[in-house]
Amino acid sequence: MTVTPVALTRPASVTDAFLRQLVARVPGSGGATWRLTEVYTGETLVELPQSTPSDIERAFAVAREAQRKWAATPLKQRLAVFKRAHALFTDRAKAVTDLIQVESGKNRQMAIEETCDPAMVMSHYLKRATKLLAPTRRGGPVPLVTNSTEIRQPKGVVGIIAPWNFPFATGISDAVPALMAGNAVVLKPDNKTALSPLYGIRLLEEAGLPEGLFQVVCGEGPDVGPTLIDNADYVMFTGSTATGRVIGERAGRNLIGCCLELGGKNPMIVLPDADLAEAVQGAVFGAFGNTGQICMHIERIYLPESRYEEFKKAFVAKAEALDVRAAYDFGPEMGSLVSVDHMQRVKSHVDDAVAKGANVLCGGKPRPDLGPAFFEPTILEGVTKDMVCGVTETFGPVVALHKYRTVDEAVELANDTEYGLNASVWGVDLDGARAVAARIESGNVNINDILATAYASKGTPSGGVKTSGVGARHGDQGLLKYTDVKNLAVLKKQVMGPRPGQDYEKYVKSMISGLKLMRKFRIR
Ligand code: NAD
Repeated sequence: MTVTPVALTRPASVTDAFLRQLVARVPGSGGATWRLTEVYTGETLVELPQSTPSDIERAFAVAREAQRKWAATPLKQRLAVFKRAHALFTDRAKAVTDLIQVESGKNRQMAIEETCDPAMVMSHYLKRATKLLAPTRRGGPVPLVTNSTEIRQPKGVVGIIAPWNFPFATGISDAVPALMAGNAVVLKPDNKTALSPLYGIRLLEEAGLPEGLFQVVCGEGPDVGPTLIDNADYVMFTGSTATGRVIGERAGRNLIGCCLELGGKNPMIVLPDADLAEAVQGAVFGAFGNTGQICMHIERIYLPESRYEEFKKAFVAKAEALDVRAAYDFGPEMGSLVSVDHMQRVKSHVDDAVAKGANVLCGGKPRPDLGPAFFEPTILEGVTKDMVCGVTETFGPVVALHKYRTVDEAVELANDTEYGLNASVWGVDLDGARAVAARIESGNVNINDILATAYASKGTPSGGVKTSGVGARHGDQGLLKYTDVKNLAVLKKQVMGPRPGQDYEKYVKSMISGLKLMRKFRIR
């Protein structure tokens, strides 16, 4: 394969001096660096320091020191930082977009949408945090003389390990509730996409986040991961299911909590009464948005036999007409994959499917003429479970069409996977679509949408079931998971247990009738 260099002018904000400043905060005492490249051209952007185990330990020590002061800072003051940060994040969206694009190669439309996520998360928790973190008085076992208060305390230092597909969103948005709750954070972004989260941290500090509280360490996962997990009080991980198992095992051994947001092989079911034009448009985004590198994107589409040909024709036509290219403007509808390695992985899935009999309806090939890691929007049919892409997440612009005869069969096929992250159901009769959604084994189900409605609903927890994850982000638990509970119990007068000299049989009788009375009057 020959690679044609792409002539492109980098965004003006992405200067060498700016990038060197950004990476200067990453510790790298061993002197090793990683060549961080512009995806569209393969040119070096900056040498990213690689953190040694002692760098990581030092980062935790500094974060721990800063965390003590931060946790003692009144919540109102802590939240004020995020009010200012919200304004900064929205004002600087363009600069963030430039960084996301150069390091990930995604198209500009997706990059600017990604910049909105931390602001949305801040906005949500600015409304909820005060209530969630306030001590909550609960009743005690004996009315009037006992009570118990649920007190939420920060865990300490949270380790966050983030992937490359939404580096700014996963690096910053998951840190926001942790910080609001009084924790410090040590983030390990992916080497390929460390720039946008580094800029996000700078913006948080500009908004008043104390220095030292948000640390960044960089390196390849297996080099950095063990020391990071061994020093953390909680781990927030987003990435593949395979790595999630490694993280979960280590966190379990250390008896610390973790949240694992993992991969998917997400199905879309088009019901017989669906608005086909809308479903086709949805499928274009579901399969090719962010170049197919969204954890909640669609890799399997189930269509009623009666509407298969109609859908296929319209979907292939739209996929073939997509504007796919490298540009730092809003023109292209699809950008590059993140790296040549990842492009080769996507290609291997397609090649394997074709070798085993799948039919390529459109695409199917790398596009070195567009840039080193471009791959065509690809639609397959005839994909079976003996093919890699029939069972495993491809995480690229590759989708398979399948026919079903009955809705029961569609549900069965959609659930025939070890994953359970997201699903999309399309139908005009919302009750019918809801009934189908209820039967799908998935942490998220969107009706008449692919993923945005669920993901942008920051008040509802969003996570995976089966091998797609443990725990959730967003919703109350998206903040409370970063806290420990202290159950502060008060007994005003000693009334529990037999009085001195009381006959035990009598005591048991009075205790049992007390229990019955409390149930009757719904006291406890
Ligand atoms: P990955 O698991 O290879 O890497 C994710 C992060 O983990 C990176 O920072 C990587 O350096 C680090 N890592 C790798 N091995 C490690 C180890 N042994 N110890 C500690 N850290 C390690 O995943 P990826 O290829 O970067 O990202 C794509 C995957 O992420 C896809 O499977 C996608 O579905 C998933 N994802 C899930 C969500 C979600 O919310 N469920 C969101 C985005 C991406």
